[in-house]
Amino acid sequence: MNDLDRPSSSRREFLRRLSLGALAVTGSSYLTAEAADAARPAGRKLGVALVGLGNYATGQLGPALRETKLCRLAGVVTGSAAKGKKWSRDYGFPERAVYHYDTMQRMADNPDIDIVYVVTPNGLHAEHTIRAAKAGKHVISEKPMANTVAECDAMIAACREAKVLLSIGYRLHFDPYHQELMRLARDKDFGAFAKMNGKFAFVMGTPQWRAEQKLAGGGPLMDLGIYVLHAACMAADGATPLAVTAHEPPKERPDFDVDVAETIRWTMEFPGGATAAGATSYNDNGNNFHADAPRGWIDLQNAFAYSGLVGKTSRGRLKYPRVNQQARQMDDFADCILTGRPTPVPGELGRRDMQIITAIYEAARTGNRVTVQS
Ligand code: NAD
Repeated sequence: MNDLDRPSSSRREFLRRLSLGALAVTGSSYLTAEAADAARPAGRKLGVALVGLGNYATGQLGPALRETKLCRLAGVVTGSAAKGKKWSRDYGFPERAVYHYDTMQRMADNPDIDIVYVVTPNGLHAEHTIRAAKAGKHVISEKPMANTVAECDAMIAACREAKVLLSIGYRLHFDPYHQELMRLARDKDFGAFAKMNGKFAFVMGTPQWRAEQKLAGGGPLMDLGIYVLHAACMAADGATPLAVTAHEPPKERPDFDVDVAETIRWTMEFPGGATAAGATSYNDNGNNFHADAPRGWIDLQNAFAYSGLVGKTSRGRLKYPRVNQQARQMDDFADCILTGRPTPVPGELGRRDMQIITAIYEAARTGNRVTVQS
């Protein structure tokens, strides 16, 4: 690494002050181009450390960091030193930037790491986010943000206290098909969407930690259904539902030893009268989203995939070039850090989804219509 790549302590201080500013600004505030240049000397990309080197980090985030323009992989946190060493060789960062979960706070002394990306099981997101914030790093936490709303609150508070930014790995905000869904919801080309439905489900093989309440926080609703309820909120132009109903049918796979739900179906009622019906399962298949408005509709198949989405509206086929959702998501967060622009996927959005999920579980448990708490 040359000197240009290495951030000076004054640059680091600048980045920290930027975060403080970003927490205080409104959506319309931007820093000047000169300020952004000062924060990122020519050619210097922000350093990202991945926490947890499982399937998503290995298959998607690592490769995406080879495509990002504003950030690069600068370290990892893993339980396996050998795996960490291999990553350091493959991605060209120093071995001293390989940390263990127990020692990850030592990255406070590593100026090459600006952003920590938490990709561990859901039940560990809060712990790892809070430790990263205490080390003075900006944080991306994977979805679902945490197991409970209380954990989300603790994560938001820790990042605020450390004056670092927090975002959630909602990659579909950076996908053109979902961006068109959000645009249609905002501009109301077809009028306001009034009726939505969606499903995200697959037949799970070996459940691993996703079958354990403590690590998963729930079943497919936390893992897959969250995409459907998030898309429904997008179609409602960002509104939070007022209330939900839900039903958990009996488990059908006796071979499947899980202490989480197997299937959940639910409905959402939005302010203004729009409704959404969602379904998710670890024992079924489906990957679609549809929204109807008075003068038209949008339909997404393979709706929540990394690529290969198929989109139609009542006007005809949508066709967008293939993008790397994860690279766009991480570059956008780096840009937010550099410019002071608020992230479109902040911790508060992750918290909102946990409020909805909490209400859906309560509705499934009690059979009642449940108000979504704010
Ligand atoms: P995974 O099981 O493949 O990887 C989890 C990683 O966490 C492993 O490296 C594992 O060693 C590590 N880990 C650390 N402590 C652990 C513990 N106590 N128990 C089990 N594992 C532990 O899981 P994954 O599919 O990579 O998912 C990780 C996170 O990423 C989850 O929160 C998941 O919801 C999220 N995810 C998001 C997307 C997306 O499209 N945004 C896709 C897949 C996964």
